[in-house]
Amino acid sequence: MLAFGAHMSASGGCDKAITRAGDFGMASCQLFTKNERQWRSKPLEDEVIERFFAERERTGISKLVVHDSYLINMASPKEDILTKSLAAFRDELVRCDQLGIPYLVTHPGAHTGSGVEAGVRQFASSLNRIHQELPDNKTLTLLETTAGQGTTLGRSFAELAAIIDLVDEKQRVAVCLDTCHIFAAGYDFRPREGYEAMIRLFDEEIGLDRIKTIHLNDSKFPTGSNKDRHEHIGDGEIGLDGFRWFVNDSRLEGLPGILETEKGYDGELDRRNLETLRTLVEPRPS
Ligand code: ZN
Ligand code: MN
Ligand code: MN
Repeated sequence: MLAFGAHMSASGGCDKAITRAGDFGMASCQLFTKNERQWRSKPLEDEVIERFFAERERTGISKLVVHDSYLINMASPKEDILTKSLAAFRDELVRCDQLGIPYLVTHPGAHTGSGVEAGVRQFASSLNRIHQELPDNKTLTLLETTAGQGTTLGRSFAELAAIIDLVDEKQRVAVCLDTCHIFAAGYDFRPREGYEAMIRLFDEEIGLDRIKTIHLNDSKFPTGSNKDRHEHIGDGEIGLDGFRWFVNDSRLEGLPGILETEKGYDGELDRRNLETLRTLVEPRPS
């Protein structure tokens, strides 16, 4: 079984995301450590860091994942955007390390016209530079699979593999697999054999042990649409079966399985999606 959780609001302080996840009985949680639509933010205060560790201890939620800012594009061919992106991502990694967070999810950027190959090279060289600047940082960067909208990179496992291939410190990168994104990108894992083929391909091209987090989202648009629009579990084009394979795959046992779906009033839709996921869990022979 996956460790079910959701992206939770960190409003009022990062520790509040864990508090909220605990209130919902989640086993994992994703959060932003700063405003995701701004380039700059104040450094984390010591009290927030202390409260964060205390909340983690109190709730027992140790499977924590951070998502970086949506503005960051470390594959950009534009000097000014690249400079801002490097500084911002470096800051994201520092904050994660301060909070003892193992994983920072990022999108592999968009080449915005320079071409896939140039984008892949730029992204990898951005990571290499940041790794050099932060030699002791312990947070792993998770490259998220993308739907392949526009010029975004990461629409195929091969593209992620090409990036990882160019990263010098390979032990510092891994992958976050988003069910909506891979489905929209063309991996149809609804039939059991489609799921197995997708997993086999991932294993051949990247290696299954690199998957560290799963984003659990259904898709509003069909497979191959390259559109990134999340739907509630079972209500979209993927449907319940596709999630059944993920939830019961012993090769993914214990990984954070994070919802990034609309929350509804007071998180009632999170509760419903978590409930749906739990009903898919099949008892394992002991
Ligand atoms: Zn994402
Ligand atoms: Mn995602
Ligand atoms: Mn998405």
